[in-house]
Amino acid sequence: KETVSIMDIDFLKVTKNELMKEMLLPALVNGERRFIVTANPEIVMKARQDASYRQAVQRADYTIADGIGIVKAADWKGEPLPERIAGYDVMRNLLQIAEEKGYSCFFLGAAEEVNERAVQEVKRLHPNLKIAGRHHGFFELKDDTVLEQVKTANPDMVFVALGLPRQENWIAKHLDQFEKGLFMGVGGSFDVLAG
Ligand code: UDP
Repeated sequence: KETVSIMDIDFLKVTKNELMKEMLLPALVNGERRFIVTANPEIVMKARQDASYRQAVQRADYTIADGIGIVKAADWKGEPLPERIAGYDVMRNLLQIAEEKGYSCFFLGAAEEVNERAVQEVKRLHPNLKIAGRHHGFFELKDDTVLEQVKTANPDMVFVALGLPRQENWIAKHLDQFEKGLFMGVGGSFDVLAG
């Protein structure tokens, strides 16, 4: 798929529908490992300032534009992106697919009570969803206990809400240790779900 480079980040020229049908679904079906960055302006700015975060973001398999400013910047370059894709919507679509097709999900991040309420809300929205596990987001990055918990759970999808720069850094650092799984940073999405 074609990309357009904005501030050293390669954004996929895809619609959300194309992303789901042509990229994420096949990866799930084949049990492959993928790193998705839904880059909002905050992420793009952080990547500009912080070289190690930039390197983490650049390891993504798919980077999509989660901000109208990025879509506008692509227009100005004369290489338009078809649409803005909100990270929250990608997560919601993935949860739907997971429930329908039996893929399991791990929810990593946010404060313990937020994480718990978010997972409760996910269960309410998707009663048949397989929850592989959950863990709050306030642990030491060098402590591998959480990593081991995720690995043991062997999830098909891992939603990571650790804020910037921790979420993409955590994924980029540990991705190689997983055989399969869609990994994506979801920012404040657990807070939204928890209400
Ligand atoms: N968060 C976390 N661990 C941290 C920092 C943040 O789990 O060390 C969670 C936070 O509780 C929230 C989410 O990450 O649920 C996004 O946080 P915030 O909006 O502060 O982060 P940003 O993405 O704006 O940096």
